[in-house]
Amino acid sequence: MNISKSIKQFNTFGLDVVSNDFNIAKNEDEIINFLNKHSNNNPIVLGGGSNILFKKDIERPVLKIEIKGINVVKEDSAFVYISVGAGENWDNFVNWTLRKDYGGIENLSLIPGNVGSAPIQNIGAYGVELDSVFESCRAISLENKKVKIFHKIDCDFTYRSSIFKEKLKNKYIISRVVFKLTKKSHFLKTNYKPLKELIKIKNISNPTIQDISNLVKEIRSSKLPDPKIIGNCGSFFKNPIISKNKLEKISSIDKLIPFYKLSDEKFKIPAAWLIEKCGMKGRIEGQTGTHKEHALVIINLGAATGTEIYNFSQKIKKLVLKKFNILLEEEVNIID
Ligand SMILES: Cc1cc2nc3c(=O)[nH]c(=O)nc-3n(C[C@H](O)[C@H](O)[C@H](O)COP(=O)(O)OP(=O)(O)OC[C@H]3O[C@@H](n4cnc5c(N)ncnc54)[C@H](O)[C@@H]3O)c2cc1C
Repeated sequence: MNISKSIKQFNTFGLDVVSNDFNIAKNEDEIINFLNKHSNNNPIVLGGGSNILFKKDIERPVLKIEIKGINVVKEDSAFVYISVGAGENWDNFVNWTLRKDYGGIENLSLIPGNVGSAPIQNIGAYGVELDSVFESCRAISLENKKVKIFHKIDCDFTYRSSIFKEKLKNKYIISRVVFKLTKKSHFLKTNYKPLKELIKIKNISNPTIQDISNLVKEIRSSKLPDPKIIGNCGSFFKNPIISKNKLEKISSIDKLIPFYKLSDEKFKIPAAWLIEKCGMKGRIEGQTGTHKEHALVIINLGAATGTEIYNFSQKIKKLVLKKFNILLEEEVNIID
């Protein structure tokens, strides 16, 4: 029997959409059982719902991954290897590593969502991306229902992307992820500007990984809207990577364009700046809009529909394209 269920509590946009076939998997066998029934129906895999926009009620079967467990699988004097169930909450896992004094993901504190979704878009924040600690993951093929191990080299990690968001999109369900973290001699990443500044302001001379986590949490809480209070999925678009030529063209219109040099030819620029320059920061239209402090965060004021949010996002895209000739790419996964 199919179970119909509102998934309002399972998506951070807080959209009151109904799934007509809602399922939960607590282990790999339950994923395989589900796939035996549904793999031809283009199922939707759901983690914490913090990077997904449902445009309307969902006809496709939904599988929410709730596989738990955090286990040390190997260690030597310098590193520990930890296998984590895809359904573990990401920030709970970060806090677990801090209690054990294992280093590597402290900068990724307070990112919403689950462990199994973290490799999909190679989550990143404050100068660290997931691929720096990713060892491998177990994933079940939708095609043959067999488990395959993906090592880091197999995953094609790039900025907010991986093979699971590109070539193998919707082809595998991740069940567990193995991380390689430092046991001592932690390699702290403190170069990200707001983090560096806060360390200086607070006069912290030898920060610990717990200090870094606390500072990241402080910065994030002051900047990003809490989805429990106002529906959102964090950054809606990726920061575009543009050529030197293009950067020079935009600089000739506005000298103040911020950029981050990736190579002599490639520069990353903040999508939030482009959106703000189009007059869309803090713009509210109906039940949706951009956050007043963060132009890249599209919000649900309470009663927005997925289509309303989607249409608003496309309006932003058109404006940025017209003004800067840059096509923004969605970071959020859109479900039609
Ligand atoms: C306030 C806020 C701040 C955020 N800040 C950041 C940030 O700093 N950095 C960052 O990178 N992201 C950020 N995000 C985005 C989001 O938290 C991450 O992308 C997160 O990894 C999504 O996890 P999830 O479990 O919620 O994924 P979901 O939204 O449930 O799913 C995301 C995608 O992954 C697929 N998926 C989920 N689980 C699996 C699985 N087990 N196997 C295969 N496919 C799967 C889904 O089908 C979907 O396509 C933020 C979001 C919010 C709301």
